[in-house]
Amino acid sequence: MNDSKIIDRHNRQLNYLRVSITDRCNLQCIYCQPNTLIPKLSHDEILRYEEILRIIKVGVSLGISKVRITGGEPLVRKGVYDFLKKLVNIKGLEDVSLTTNGALLKDNMDKLKSAGIRRINISMDTLNREKYKRITGRDSFLQAWEGIEAAQKAGLHPIKINVVALNGINDDELNDIAQLSFTYPFHIRFIEYMPIGTQLIKDKTPLLAPDILKRIESLGRLNPIASESYDGPAKRFKFQGALGEIGIISSISHHFCETCNRLRLTASGKLRSCLLADYHQDLLAPLRNGCSDNDLADIFLKAASHKPFKHQVAANQPAAVKGNMSSIGG
Ligand code: SAM
Repeated sequence: MNDSKIIDRHNRQLNYLRVSITDRCNLQCIYCQPNTLIPKLSHDEILRYEEILRIIKVGVSLGISKVRITGGEPLVRKGVYDFLKKLVNIKGLEDVSLTTNGALLKDNMDKLKSAGIRRINISMDTLNREKYKRITGRDSFLQAWEGIEAAQKAGLHPIKINVVALNGINDDELNDIAQLSFTYPFHIRFIEYMPIGTQLIKDKTPLLAPDILKRIESLGRLNPIASESYDGPAKRFKFQGALGEIGIISSISHHFCETCNRLRLTASGKLRSCLLADYHQDLLAPLRNGCSDNDLADIFLKAASHKPFKHQVAANQPAAVKGNMSSIGG
């Protein structure tokens, strides 16, 4: 991985940009995008693909080497596969990945693969169709599961399955979900619920990493695995004899801010230096007012210089971040 010129006040090199290309989603997950509560951005309020690509190219010239496309649901945006192809071809960009709920994946797997996407994260919080409907507001469990199977058949690797651990909702299923790692080469990643934005969940005793680990330990011995250069913040484990892995993302109980290397570009063109802090720099207005690439680079550096040393969000407090996950991009 190249050194990045985007260095914050705490000497962290920022080389990873997460990009939300839409705030729209075909699901309405209770922890993310409470139905009808969040007004949608208009066509003019979101970055055009060519604007996103220009911003990313400037980021790459400063040392961004890894980009993840997210949303909302990235696969609902028209023209996404052509955009991904152009993105993958940006010189100097070493790693491009995508986070999706998988519901549109089966029918579009070929397009995704020919765009050059080789690895993917798919969200799946339950193995129960009724519960999936309760969590996401849509009866799309079968489509999402078929999407996971299609990704596996197409040879994408690794396939990471994102599971937000929710007390009273899927806590009774964590074992069954973890068990998938024995039969599939998937990386099952349990994510602590983050109380941000407009909330429907008012959980005073959230499921945190130690509880998650305790619940799944009954399946066997969990051996820790060392992190690799492109690993995210997940603490990685593997059950003896399993094909896949287990990851625990403890954003709340044991934050990983000291090693955070991320910036985030929202669908509306805000460059955020932290998921869990509302500070941002606007890129959309300068872009549409004809700014130069040097101006854009300065905005990157300014956003980085405001990156907080650590976030201030705690498990059992009301949301301290106003931005919603669906527009920031999880
Ligand atoms: N639509 C895509 C999907 O479902 O994967 C991408 C966007 S979604 C916002 C990205 C990830 O953020 C998902 O894995 C989702 O589970 C996670 N997420 C959303 N809201 C969250 C919250 N409040 N706490 C923890 N994770 C959350």
